[in-house]
Amino acid sequence: MDNLSICNRCGSDACYVQEVNQDIKNYQCMGCGFVTNSFMKQGSQFFEEQMELLPNLYKELMGEDEEGLIWMPATINLPSQGMVFANGTSAENWNWAAVQSVPVKDEEKEKYPIPGKPGEYYEQRMDMDTLKEFGEKDFIEALDYIGIFEKPE
Ligand SMILES: [Zn+2]
Repeated sequence: MDNLSICNRCGSDACYVQEVNQDIKNYQCMGCGFVTNSFMKQGSQFFEEQMELLPNLYKELMGEDEEGLIWMPATINLPSQGMVFANGTSAENWNWAAVQSVPVKDEEKEKYPIPGKPGEYYEQRMDMDTLKEFGEKDFIEALDYIGIFEKPE
């Protein structure tokens, strides 16, 4: 069941809340494109780990809401459809970027081996030529560009 609520970050009513259990919730706002979860708090181990892994831009864009949850830009990576991520040089200069996934052609499959699986190749690849940028408020449009809202055939 979709469980939409008001986003604590941007105030839109399109924040998708997934209740993993009583103590753990994931938040994905379709309005601003930011995410957080019950572990994203100052001083938590999860947060420290994220700080080691995340690109600088993501760290710069982070912000704490009134409940102490720290929000950061979403990273969408769907091998069969594409990717959406925050792209830019600083918190003052960034956009959403979307890249479409395309089928790997037979003649190029050797270039896309699946690591650890000799003789097997990816069927789809991210085509960086399709990279398109969207404004900070256009996260939904970026998702639309990689076909997330199209019904499966
Ligand atoms: Zn939001």
